[in-house]
Amino acid sequence: MAFEGLADRLQNTIQKIRGKGKVTEDDVKAMMRDVRLALLEADVNFKVVKDFVKRVNERAIGQEVMKSLTPGQQVIKVVKEELTELMGGEQSKIAVSSRPPTVIMMVGLQGAGKTTTSGKLANLLRKKYNRKPMLVAADIYRPAAIKQLETLGKQLGMPVFSLGDQVSPVEIAKQAIAKAKEEHHDYVLIDTAGRLHVDENLMTELSDIKDLTKPDEIFLVVDAMTGQDAVNVAQSFNEQLGLTGVVLTKLDGDTRGGAALSIRSVTNTPIKFVGMGEKLDALEAFHPERMASRILGMGDVLTLIEKAQANVDEEKAKELEKKIRSASFTLDDFLEQLGQVRNMGPLDEILKMLPGANKIKGMDNISIDEKQIGHVEAIIRSMTKTEKEQPEIINASRRKRIAKGSGTSIQEVNRLLKQFEDMKKMMKQMTNMGSRGPKGKKKG
Ligand code: GDP
Repeated sequence: MAFEGLADRLQNTIQKIRGKGKVTEDDVKAMMRDVRLALLEADVNFKVVKDFVKRVNERAIGQEVMKSLTPGQQVIKVVKEELTELMGGEQSKIAVSSRPPTVIMMVGLQGAGKTTTSGKLANLLRKKYNRKPMLVAADIYRPAAIKQLETLGKQLGMPVFSLGDQVSPVEIAKQAIAKAKEEHHDYVLIDTAGRLHVDENLMTELSDIKDLTKPDEIFLVVDAMTGQDAVNVAQSFNEQLGLTGVVLTKLDGDTRGGAALSIRSVTNTPIKFVGMGEKLDALEAFHPERMASRILGMGDVLTLIEKAQANVDEEKAKELEKKIRSASFTLDDFLEQLGQVRNMGPLDEILKMLPGANKIKGMDNISIDEKQIGHVEAIIRSMTKTEKEQPEIINASRRKRIAKGSGTSIQEVNRLLKQFEDMKKMMKQMTNMGSRGPKGKKKG
């Protein structure tokens, strides 16, 4: 996971101070020495680290913290606030032009994930903000770039404007915007050319597109795995083009986190989105506070709830509640539930959003459970309709058949049936408690 080393170290460090009834200046200084090293090791820009440590020190050694009833907690609060501030404070929103279409220029070096991110962003704009975006293929140099964008467009069912690779990018952009107006698209995402390094020709071309299209946003796509290089790239692009935001990709990989923590401070450009995987729905709005909370092991329950909301059908949820109340929850319902949880993303990533999750032993091996879920799904799918509705009829010979059909073992089938039975018992108990609820309330 991204930030793993940093998160571990910071959490161990703040753990020492958390419960202290009395915190001395020396305690804070010792903690900040550890914090400083942890940040440097995570490849955070040294000047950023220096300023950060100075600010936390000033605030933490201040009177209101030291004299408070819970100084340990207060110091941690200061660390969290400053970490949030470092990454940009408030979450920054995406622009909406009062005269549509809103034009977004996507820029970045080759391989950073620019084309993929253009597709992801268009997808997000449509799904989350109900917008009608159009993609524009303006990278005429990388041979496969236009085709790649067109393929993405097909996958998403989203229009891609292209004029091949013989027309200049400026001309492509111009015609694309005219077409978007005509067809009432409210966002235009221009996928511009990348290079292996920042070079003058590229910057001239991008400036020309900028002058002509007057974009509402210029998003730089950078690869989080490249650490300080990402920060340098952001600095050059910002000087030449004036960026409005950064999209940090590959945050699902094991980046140490340096780029995420330095970019805002060094370039004064906010991180607006983060790429969390190769799939087209793996782009998230960047929330500095939630990220700080994740790094400090305080969990990210808000993102978890949002993910659940995006993946759970409200009608189905109501139906499910009814079933639980009437104790008619079947193995088929269970299968569907598993599917919904899976849609939220890799299980280990989801669990890590829970507060304190990274302190749970064996959390690193959680992917084994992912396999177990696969087995559970296979077992249920190997049952007949009647078996799923009345699992009590599943006798020894049926168990044998199901195990064979699902490529699992009889023990696994037994375990699942037992778990399901227990779950139903628990549901019954909950329902009983629920019906007693109002009486209890009246008393109180
Ligand atoms: P471009 O040259 O900047 O247009 O880069 P591409 O869009 O072709 O992406 C380069 C590679 O990075 C592709 O294999 C993408 O699937 C991958 N990629 C992009 N964003 C992410 C991300 O957030 N996470 C992961 N794991 N891979 C990504």
